Amino acid sequence: MRTISAHASNDPVHTSSALPVDTRLFLGGRRQDGSTGQTIVVENPATGAALTEVADATPEDALAALDAASAVQESWAVTPPRERGEILRRAYALLTEREDDLARIITLEMGKTLDESRAEVAYGADYLRWFSEEAVRISGEWKINAAGNARVLTMRQPVGPCLLITPWNVPLAMPARKIGPAIAAGCTMILKPAAQTPLTALYLAEVLAEAGLPDGVLSVLPTSDAGGLTDALFADDRIRKVSFTGSTGVGRLLLEKSAAHVLRTSMELGGNAPFIVCADADVDAAVDGAMLAKIRNNGEACVAANRFLVHVDVADEFSAKFADRMRALRTGDGTEPGVQVGPLIDAAQRDKVAGLVADAIARGGRVVTGGSSPEGAGYFFRPTVITDVPATARINTEEIFGPVAPIRVFHDDDEAIRVANDTEFGLVAYLYTRDISRAVRLSERLQTGMVGLNRGLVSDPAAPFGGIKHSGMGREGGSTGIDEYLETKYVALAV
Ligand code: NAP
Repeated sequence: MRTISAHASNDPVHTSSALPVDTRLFLGGRRQDGSTGQTIVVENPATGAALTEVADATPEDALAALDAASAVQESWAVTPPRERGEILRRAYALLTEREDDLARIITLEMGKTLDESRAEVAYGADYLRWFSEEAVRISGEWKINAAGNARVLTMRQPVGPCLLITPWNVPLAMPARKIGPAIAAGCTMILKPAAQTPLTALYLAEVLAEAGLPDGVLSVLPTSDAGGLTDALFADDRIRKVSFTGSTGVGRLLLEKSAAHVLRTSMELGGNAPFIVCADADVDAAVDGAMLAKIRNNGEACVAANRFLVHVDVADEFSAKFADRMRALRTGDGTEPGVQVGPLIDAAQRDKVAGLVADAIARGGRVVTGGSSPEGAGYFFRPTVITDVPATARINTEEIFGPVAPIRVFHDDDEAIRVANDTEFGLVAYLYTRDISRAVRLSERLQTGMVGLNRGLVSDPAAPFGGIKHSGMGREGGSTGIDEYLETKYVALAV
C-alpha cells in the first residue's frame, strides 16, 4: 500500500482547486474536519505526487456517525419505499450527468484510464438505478400453518445501521453496490472507503445528499486508522451488519470480529479466476474476452483473469494473438488520450507484480511480451504475457492484480477442471467453448460463484455478484442483493 501520512493541518483544505470534492468528512450529513484535525494525503499513482488531502476520521468520529445513524434509523426505516427509491433514482441521474467530473476524480486517485473511469461511473450509477427499482418490491408472506389453527405472517425489515468497508480498485461502484441496497432496504450506514481513494466516495456522498438523502442516513469516513475506527464500531452493539469488499486476509479478520458481536456479514473477497479456452473455442472471440478479463481496471480487479488455461491444440494460436494485442497496448497516465493501461495503485503493488513475474521466469516461464516496469515516475508495469508457466509458480496461487497473463496448457476437460478448481478462491471462471453440452458440464463443475461463458465480463447490476470458498459469502446486485440488508420477522397469528 502507498504510504499514507497523517499530519496536523492548521489550514485544512476543504476543496482542492483542481478537484470538485469537499475533502472534509461527511458525518451525519455535515461536512467537518476529523476530531484531531489531521489529514490524509491522496496521491496520483501516475506521478506519485500528492493530489490533495482529506480529513482523517478517528474512532470518536465513527461513534458520532453511529449516533447520527442510530438517531434516524427508525424514521428512515418507515420512510415510504417510493421516497427511498426516488432518492436513488435522482442520485443515478446526477452521477450520469456528472460523469466527466467523477471519471476524472477516479482516474486521478486510482489510475485507471478515463474511458475505464467513465465505464465505472455508468456501472456504479446503474446499481443505484437498479436498487431504486427494488426499493418498492420488498415483500412478505401470508400462510396458513399446517394445523390450520394459526396464520404465518412474514415481513422484511431493515437490518439496522451498517458498516460498509470498500477497497481502492473500484472506488465508486463498490460503495454504490452497498449503499444502493442499504438505502432501498431502509438501513442507515457508515462507509469507510479505502484511504487511497477517498475522493470518489466523498463525491458520491455529496451527490446522495443533493438527491435528498436525509442527514444521518449515510456517513463517509476516510481514515488512516482502519483497524481503530472499525474496532470502535464493532464494539458498539448498535451496528448490526458489516458488508466488506477487499482482500481475503482482511475479510477473515473482520469475520472473527463479527463473530464476537454476532453481526450479519457480507464478504466480497479476493479471486484467482481461471480463463479456460477449449479446443473447440472461437479463438478470436476468446482473445477479445481475454483482453477484457485481463486488462479491464489495469488488471486490478477481483474478477480479473488470473490464470489462462488453454487446450494444447489452440495454445500457440491463442498465445500469439493474445500477445500481439497485449503488446499493442499503450501504457501511460490515464488522463492522456489514447492511453489504454494506467499505473498500478502504488509501488508495493507494482513490486508485487514484478516479484510474481520474476518467480514465474525463474521456474521456467517464457516472457512473450512485457515483463518489466518502464523507467520514470508512477507505478507502471508493462502488459505481459508469459507462456510455459509451471504449476509450481506463485503466480498460479496468488492474486496478480496487474496486467500480467500467465498461460498454461491442458489436454482434456478433466485436467482443465482440476487445475481451475485447485485454488482456495472461488469468485469467477471464464470458459470459451462452442459446444453447448461441454459449456453446461464444465460450468456445473467449476467451483466459483460466477461463470463468464464465452464472455470476458460478468459484472452486471441485474446479476447476483459474489463468490464461494475463500472468495466470500453473500451476493451483491440482482434480485437477491437487497436480502443482504433485510431481516425476516415472523408473526404468529391466532385465528
Ligand atoms: P484490503 O487491503 O483488504 O482493504 C479493503 C478495505 O479494508 C480498505 O478500506 C481498507 O482500509 C480496509 N481495511 C484494511 N485493514 C483493515 C482492518 N484491519 N480493519 C478494518 N478495515 C480494514 O483490500 P484492497 O487492497 O484495498 O483491495 C484489493 C482486494 O479487494 C483484492 O483482494 C480484491 O480481489 C478484493 N476485491 C474484491 C471484490 C469482490 O467483489 N469480491 C471487488 C473488488 C476488490 P485502508 O484503505 O485504510 O487499508
